[in-house]
Amino acid sequence: MPIETSYLGMTVELHEREVENSTYFRYCAAHEFRLQCCEACGLIRYPPTTACPWCASPNASWVIVEGRGTVHSYTEVHHAIQPAFKAFVPYLILLVELDTQRGGPTMHEALRVVGNLTNPDGTLAPRELVESVGIGSRMRMVFTDVAPGLSLPQWTLDHDAPQPERPWRYPGASIGSSTVPSIRSP
Ligand SMILES: [Zn+2]
Repeated sequence: MPIETSYLGMTVELHEREVENSTYFRYCAAHEFRLQCCEACGLIRYPPTTACPWCASPNASWVIVEGRGTVHSYTEVHHAIQPAFKAFVPYLILLVELDTQRGGPTMHEALRVVGNLTNPDGTLAPRELVESVGIGSRMRMVFTDVAPGLSLPQWTLDHDAPQPERPWRYPGASIGSSTVPSIRSP
C-alpha cells in the first residue's frame, strides 16, 4: 500500500515501487536506522540506491547503523519555501557525518545523512536550539513519526557526547541579534 500523508502542511507520498526508499522508511517507521551494505565490497552507502556507488554490485543487505555523528554542514532557513512553513522558521537542515565508516573509502568520503534539527521528541527545534548548533556539533538520531508506516530520521543534540565549545556558524547568520550585518549609509 502506498503511503499518502502530509507533514508540516506538505504532501508526502511513498510508493512501494520505489523499492529502496520504501524499505529504508519501513525500517525508520520501526525506529531502526538501517542502510545498505554492499555484499561485494563491504561498504555501507547512503542514500539508498539500487547499486553500490563504488563497485556497482546490486547485492546488498540492510544493516543496523548507529545514529551518531558530527555536523558536517548545515543550512539555516529563515524564509519559508512555502506558506505552511512560516510557523517553523528558523529551522536547520543538517548534514551529519556518521561515526560509522568515517574516512572511508577515502578521506573525502563518508556517510552524511540529512535531517532537520529537532528536540529529543522529534519535533522541530526552537530558535534557541537552532542558534546553538553548528559545524562540529555532536548529534544523535531521533525519529519523527509522520503517519503509520512513515517516520523521518532527524537529528538532536547528543547530550552524552562532549560538544565543541563553539560550533562553527556562518557569520551573521543569527537574526534578531547584533550579529546581523547592517547596511551602512555612506
Ligand atoms: Zn560495493
